[in-house]
Formats: sequence, C-alpha cells, structure tokens
Amino acid sequence: METHAKVVIIGGGVVGCSILFHLAKFGWKDVILLERSELTSGSSWHAAGMIHTISSDPNISRLQAYTINLYKELEGLSGQSVGLHSCGGIYLASTPERLDFLKKERSKARYMGLEQEFISLKEVVELNPLIDPSQYLGALYDPLDGYVDPSGVTYAYAKSAQHYGAKWYRNSPVVETRQRPDGTWDVVTPKGTVNAEMIVNAGGLWAREVGRLAGIDLPVQPMEHHYLITEEIPEIASMGKETPAGVDYEANIYYRQEHKGLLLGTYEAVATPWMVDGTPLNFGHELLPDDLDRVSDRLALAFQRMPALARAGIKSVVNGPFTFGPDGNPMIGPVPGMKNYWVAVGIMAGFCQAGGVGRSMAEWMIEGEPSIDVWSMDIARFGEFATREYGTKKSAENYERRFLLTYPNEELPAMRRQKTTSIYDRLMHRGAVMGVSFGLENALWFADSPENAHEEPTFRRSNAFDYVGEEVRAVREQVGALEIANFGKHKVSGPGAVAYLDRLLANTLPEVGRLKLSPMLTPKGKLYGDLTVARLDRDTFYIFGSGAAQEMHRRWFEKHLPDSGVSYENYSDAFHGMAIAGPNSRELLSRITRDDVSAEKLHFCDFRKTTVAGVPALLVRISFSGELGYEIYCAPQYHLKLFEKIEEAGSDLGLKLYGARALMSLRLEKSWGVWTLEYRPEFTADESGLDAFVAMGKATDFIGKDAIHRARDEGVSKKLVTMVMDAGDVDCVQDEAVFHNGECVGYVTSGGYAHYCQKSVAMAYLPIALAESDEQFQIEILGELRSARLQAEPLHDPSGSRMRG
Ligand SMILES: Cc1cc2nc3c(=O)[nH]c(=O)nc-3n(C[C@H](O)[C@H](O)[C@H](O)COP(=O)(O)OP(=O)(O)OC[C@H]3O[C@@H](n4cnc5c(N)ncnc54)[C@H](O)[C@@H]3O)c2cc1C
Repeated sequence: METHAKVVIIGGGVVGCSILFHLAKFGWKDVILLERSELTSGSSWHAAGMIHTISSDPNISRLQAYTINLYKELEGLSGQSVGLHSCGGIYLASTPERLDFLKKERSKARYMGLEQEFISLKEVVELNPLIDPSQYLGALYDPLDGYVDPSGVTYAYAKSAQHYGAKWYRNSPVVETRQRPDGTWDVVTPKGTVNAEMIVNAGGLWAREVGRLAGIDLPVQPMEHHYLITEEIPEIASMGKETPAGVDYEANIYYRQEHKGLLLGTYEAVATPWMVDGTPLNFGHELLPDDLDRVSDRLALAFQRMPALARAGIKSVVNGPFTFGPDGNPMIGPVPGMKNYWVAVGIMAGFCQAGGVGRSMAEWMIEGEPSIDVWSMDIARFGEFATREYGTKKSAENYERRFLLTYPNEELPAMRRQKTTSIYDRLMHRGAVMGVSFGLENALWFADSPENAHEEPTFRRSNAFDYVGEEVRAVREQVGALEIANFGKHKVSGPGAVAYLDRLLANTLPEVGRLKLSPMLTPKGKLYGDLTVARLDRDTFYIFGSGAAQEMHRRWFEKHLPDSGVSYENYSDAFHGMAIAGPNSRELLSRITRDDVSAEKLHFCDFRKTTVAGVPALLVRISFSGELGYEIYCAPQYHLKLFEKIEEAGSDLGLKLYGARALMSLRLEKSWGVWTLEYRPEFTADESGLDAFVAMGKATDFIGKDAIHRARDEGVSKKLVTMVMDAGDVDCVQDEAVFHNGECVGYVTSGGYAHYCQKSVAMAYLPIALAESDEQFQIEILGELRSARLQAEPLHDPSGSRMRG
C-alpha cells in the first residue's frame, strides 16, 4: 500500500466508490480508497436498488438525474453490469393534498427539463394490472425511474475508478486518523499508514465511528428498514413487459418488479433506530431479524391497493440498516472547523444520489467549489446543536415521515427547543408560533393569544395570513419589534483584517462607524455570502449574514485566514438582539438610549458600540423591512432586559411584535432577495442584482473579480426579477415554473403575499431578454397557470426615502 496519497477515502460502499471514480475521472490519480472488508460491506449490498429523481430539493433532483444517467457510462467503462431496469415509476395520490404535492413536483420537474407527466388511472392499470384504480385520485409518471443491482453499481464505480488510475484496498480497516501539524492526515490501518492531504469519511453505517477517530460526532443514525419479495404473481408473470416501479404515499409503500413477483418496502410508522450507541465494528454482510408485525398495518393497506398481492406468497424478507441524517438529505463537504477533513455521510438513497454526491465532492475538492449549489447537502447546515441525540431523534422523525406530506409552512416537532433565547417564554406568552433556524427557536408570527397559536399545515394561505398582515401594517405605519438572535454574526479583527476582508469581500470596506452591504463571491463568481459589514474601529469588523449559513460562512472565513494578523470568530451565539422598525422606531429608540439618535446624529448605515436599554449593545441603523429601523445586538445575558425595555417604551407608540413571516412579506415589497433562496452559489452578483454592491473599481483583486470580467465579456444570461401575479387564494412558495408563450423559462426562488401592497409576489430568475421586457408570463401554482407580470420597481417606497429618512 502507498505511504502517501492526495486523498484517502474511508469506506467502500456505493458512496466512497463514486467519490473515488469522480476524483480519478476529473484528473486526480493519486487517490485511494480503504475498505475495512470487501466492497459493499455496509448497507450497499442489501438495498432495494430503486432509483428516482423526486426529492424535496431541485438541485438534489438534478444530481439524482445525473446519477441515473451515469449508469450506462459506468457499465461501458468497467465492463460490470449495473443491472439497470429503466421501467419508469408511478407516483400515486389518494388525497387532494397529495395530488397538489404531485402537481408541485411536476412544476419543479418542468424547469429542470425532467419529463414527469400525469397519466390517467386507466393508463396506470395498463402499466400495472395489480392496482385498484378506485383507491386513487391521480398518478404522476416518471420515465427515469427504475432499479439497479446494488453490488453491481458499487463495483462498476470502483472498476471505473481503476480505469482512470485510482486504487482501492480491501481488508484495510482504518483504525486511526491523526492530523499532523501541517494539516495532512495519517490514516492508520493494520497494513500500514498512508499520509493524505485530505481524507473523506464515507463510512456509511460506520460514519459515526470513523468520525470519532477524528474527534467529531456526526448527527447520523442507522435505521432498520424492511422490504419483502413475493413469490410469482400471475398478473405480473403474464405481462409482456416489466411493470413500472411505484410509490403509494398514503399507504406508505414502494414497490418494483422482482423477477415475476414484486419487491415491496415501507417506512414503518414508528422508526427503529439501530445501534444508537455505535455500529459494532464486526458487523459484516449481515441482515437483521425481521419483524413483520412492525409492517403488518402497511401490508394490509398494500393488499387493499393491489388485491392480487394478498394471494401472493412471501418468498423472502429483508430487514437491513441504513443511515439517515436529521433532514433526510446527505451531509457532504469539508467539515467546518477542521482542516482537510471531508464527509459524505447520511446518504439514505445511495443508488439515486451517490453519482451526484461523488461528482459534487470531486469538483469541490479539485476546483474549490461544486458546479451545482449543494447547500441542501452541505454538512455546514448543521452546527454543534446537532448532537448525537439530535441526530438519532431527527433521523427517526425523518424516516417516519419519508412518505408523509410536509407542507411549506410546517415545522416538524422532533428535538424542538434545542436552542432558545432568554425571551422564549415571553414570546410564547405573546402568542408566538415558533419555527427553527439552525437549531434556534424563532418566532414566525404571533396569534392574538397563546391558545390560538397554531398553524394549519397547508399549501395554501393558512390561518396565519391575517395575523401576519397586521404585523406588516404595524411595521409600515407604527413600529414593530423582531427578535434577531437567529441572524448570523461574525467578528474579524487584527492588523491584517483590512487586507483580508478587502480580498474576501466584493465591496469596499466601510469607514469606521459605518456599515456597507457586500457580496462575498467564489473564484467562479458565484454568490457565497450576502453580508452586512460594520466597522467598529480601524481593525475590528462585525459582519452580519444568514443565520442558517453561519457555519458555511465560518468555513469560508477560516479557509482564507492568513497565518497571522487576523482573528476570526463565529459570534452568532455571542450576540442576541432585537430589531425595531417603522416610523415610530426612532422615537422608541430615543426613549431607551441616552445617545442622540436624531436623523442628524445617527444616519442610515451608521454603526456604533453603545448602551441601549441600559445594557451594552451594538447599534446598527438598518432594517430589512425597508422602513426606518435599527438592529440592536447584545450579549445573551442582556437580551431579556433589552426586550422588556423595548416593550415598555413602545407601548404607547403602537408597538407590535412581528416574526419571520412578516419580515419575508416586508422584504418582498422591497424586491430584496434572501440568502438560500435568491442569493446562493447558483447565481452571480450580476444575475442577482447584488452587482450594485460590487466595487469593480477597487484596487484589490477580490475573490471572484476575474470571473465577473469573464462573465461580462460573455454576456449575463439571466436576471432576478420580481413579479406580481393573479394568485387567487394561493401564493407562490418556491420552485414554481414560470412560463412565457407556453414555454418554461424559469422558476420561482421565493414568493408570498405582500400584505401592505396587497399583492401576490414572486421572485424568479428569467432569461435576460425577458427580464427586461413588458411581456406577460404565467406561473404554475398547484397545477394552475396564473398570469404574472414583471414589477420593475419595488412595490413599496421605491426611492428608499422611508428607510433613509
Ligand atoms: C433495506 C434497504 C433498502 C434500501 N433501498 C434503497 C433503494 O431502493 N434505493 C437507494 O438509493 N438506496 C436504498 N438503500 C440505501 C442504500 O443502501 C444506502 O444509501 C447506501 O448503501 C449508502 O452507501 P454508503 O457508501 O454511504 O454506506 P455503506 O454501504 O454502509 O458503506 C460504508 C463502507 O465503509 C466501510 N467502512 C466503515 N468503516 C470503515 C473503516 N474504519 N475503514 C475502512 N472502511 C470502513 C464499510 O465496510 C462499508 O463497506 C436501502 C438500504 C437498505 C438497508
């Protein structure tokens, strides 16, 4: 075995082998994979092998389509059959809500260029004669679905990697991973030690154990999972062709043809986490004892839906463990806070996802960034709040909900109150309905009493609608207060801070006592941050950004730190705080601080360290509502006091608490995008409109500058727009297809109701020729095409005079 490699991948399941293949294919030959036993010794060998593109996240769907389309290439390169059956798949709906869900999925598929289509129930029966059509309301057909042979796929990746010059070693368990002072890793096996520039934990069922070798706890959890295989079913045997795979959400079953019978699996109503304290190191090519009692209710439903099944004998039952993460999506990428340590873990649909995961990991390692925005798979979407217990409970929740509907306005119950602020109880007493962001509870909206603080999950407008409207009107007409503990905060200081930030940020740095908005770009010119940069003194900066992306930003800040002269800290938990906004906010602020906060003394975009509500605070004159407003940050121990003083001082000024929903409505009226929706590494500054905050003229070669030049030479092809639509009683949320003259030309990044302007609004990226036109558009919401037109100026206060006043 080599003593040195550029990359060592730990784990020879489908995921590790795909990463090995992609690294080698993209040009890194000095990469090796170490496998404890034989390849496919974890969950990969006993998978049902079903493949599909449907996912909650469009980019994951795209990568799943990539994975499926890769199989032919792998067979060609390796000479190894992957057992590909391209039989198509049918998604069945038996409730109106599920039909809405399928319509949303098809809308998403349209702009991704995938060919999902609704088929009639008559066609369903023609494709699968076992199905009783009277049980259903509709069916969506996806021609890309099918199934593969799991071992064949894993070996096809490994052999194709070998074709490109990579190596793998069997019977080479990694027993230690030790980091050297130079940041490289010694990967120790009984056969010898390999020094690697980077390592990848692709340990699958043992991801937790491999993580612990490097001192990290990963929030993943193997879960037991059953499927069974029937004896021959005459109706299947007599068909001249293979029946499509199927998912029946309400019965909670999936199935596909296996020889002349069916393979049928289910996600049990009560999940069974497997080996909560750790996967035994000697667990081999083994299955778990089956327990059909756990799935009998689902089998009864399956017999109703496909009566012929009840007459079929069961040939075999599989109960095998596979690993889930807290939200069901993979966790990939470099681990924040560590050097040269990468993970690709928690991948619960390896045969749909491993190709996309492998490609994204390889691009990220080789080129510094993946070609597709992988935020929904990024390990950085979790932080220290995602403990082992969190991983177990959330993974179990995810397993149980795999085929259940989760509505866009729904907040899931497991592991709530993992992180709270000191005003949590106060907010609950004021009728707060809470959501979670990066583990922290934050108010979404306020009902008129705690008793009414519930929201019905729905694709349509919910009972929150009128309450949110009142909050918006309070901010526009009087004053509102919003807890902003969940914003991301970073501190950069030291004699090298100016040079460091000047290179990292696309805008010039603010003067002392001022703040500026600045995008942070990748070398390819993609957005990596949309930040508010505040300067305390010559060498000290506070940077405010997305709370959800705080660890992603931390990773970027740390990656670019020089050896000395700059110190960086993620300050998100060190500062909580409140925002106040609205025409009466200045008066409110003046009542709780001794500072002169008049328009002449505290200008728009001023920033200072001072005392507010009698507690030490950072005071920022800015507001994401588009009104006159202030953000007041303080240490968590002062947060309650600050809140109490704001409530007290605002009582005769019309003060109303508002939540994240009202904030989203307020910003839509201003045509401002938000991080993870409009602003993310899928788009550039020019496309997003953030070019207004890019200082191309500054002397420093900031990261991404060259890419902007190149893109401008080629011509910017799309642009973020705001659209106003005839929505009826349902607004856009995200990912709805936009049509022009019957052709899908883009998709909605976010939408909602602009309560003050009383319009339904959507933001979308459109081809440049259309983005600046006065054409008519249509947006597909829950299967209906609604007319929409461009809104060139912000709906509210286009000149910005209210926030600057
Ligand atoms: C019953 C069942 C049905 C499924 N059905 C489907 C399906 O229909 N479609 C689908 O896409 N997915 C399905 N899956 C999930 C799929 O099997 C997994 O997503 C996939 O196997 C994950 O692959 P992996 O490489 O991450 O992990 P694993 O397959 O667990 O591989 C990890 C590898 O790492 C090795 N390893 C661990 N520790 C070390 C160490 N210290 N040193 C060296 N090597 C080490 C292990 O030996 C193992 O070979 C199913 C799973 C089960 C159990």
